[in-house]
Amino acid sequence: MLKDLPLADDKQYILAIKKRIVALKKEKKAIIVAHNYERPEIQDIADILGDSLELSRAVTKVAAKVVVFCGVHFMAETASILNPHKKILIPVKEAGCPMADMIDLKGLLKLKKASPGVPVVCYVNSSAEVKAESDVCCTSSNALDIVASLPDKKIIFVPDRNLGSYIQTKLPEKDILLWEGFCPTHMRIAEEEIITCKKQHPKAKFMAHPECPQRLLKHADYIGSTSGMLKYSKSTKAKEIIVGTERGMIHRLKRENPGKKFYSPSEHFICADMKLTTLGWLLHSLENMVYEVKVSEKIRKKSVEALNKMLKCMPASNKKTKETKREKR
Ligand code: SF4
Repeated sequence: MLKDLPLADDKQYILAIKKRIVALKKEKKAIIVAHNYERPEIQDIADILGDSLELSRAVTKVAAKVVVFCGVHFMAETASILNPHKKILIPVKEAGCPMADMIDLKGLLKLKKASPGVPVVCYVNSSAEVKAESDVCCTSSNALDIVASLPDKKIIFVPDRNLGSYIQTKLPEKDILLWEGFCPTHMRIAEEEIITCKKQHPKAKFMAHPECPQRLLKHADYIGSTSGMLKYSKSTKAKEIIVGTERGMIHRLKRENPGKKFYSPSEHFICADMKLTTLGWLLHSLENMVYEVKVSEKIRKKSVEALNKMLKCMPASNKKTKETKREKR
């Protein structure tokens, strides 16, 4: 119990919590997975770290029957859809994604009715109900490949208008109908902040997540998902990199690239929902086996089709178009 932990200095308290988490994990035969935007201490204690696609796939492969998902609700829900026989727990049930909440079933059905027969590509940052009404899902690492793989010219893309617009610039032959959703974390960054940061670090490359609006992407040397950013950071000769995504990412980038410097262009590059999970909540989750994320079997069966279609598309499509790399030489 939390109340039994020593109330000494912070360091002693944190060590005691960590020890307890590790012991409980073993006792309950659980694993901890965490998104790249989580707090550093959560990233450090996780068994698997990654972006939403990597985590969805990893959960499918692990033998553990209990998975504590440190991330936001749609991620744990996706893991549950793909792994109905595993217990998927989220430490903070309020950890949601404002972008995912910007689209609902009613809105999507209305859009589909207005554009009959047009396939729906759904970014995984969405509810199970929305996925269930979509033809195929995508993540920021494979969105370009998924849209490119569809034979149709006209495509509905939900809910992220920034990711959808970015794909449209890369695939001008497509006619993409966008939903007006966005990520507030990437949206709130001003162009001026990028310009100022570049001036402060003139040798640095700028990498940006495709959830950023065009006003930021136009300054990028590299555009890609968080897993793409990790690969780019390792492969580029640049020793300094400006990170155009949530600040939590910098912890992992620094850990895996000790010889390089990483800068955030803004102190506002923080997703409040991703920061809700603390060591205390993680311990609470393992101790009480809460909060389980489940969807009804009817919705699960429909939404798993869109997710499986995405996963099936991946190996072949990955060979075709890698994430945009346009490093200036
Ligand atoms: S960073 Fe943006 S897209 Fe990701 S969980 Fe937070 S609000 Fe949602």
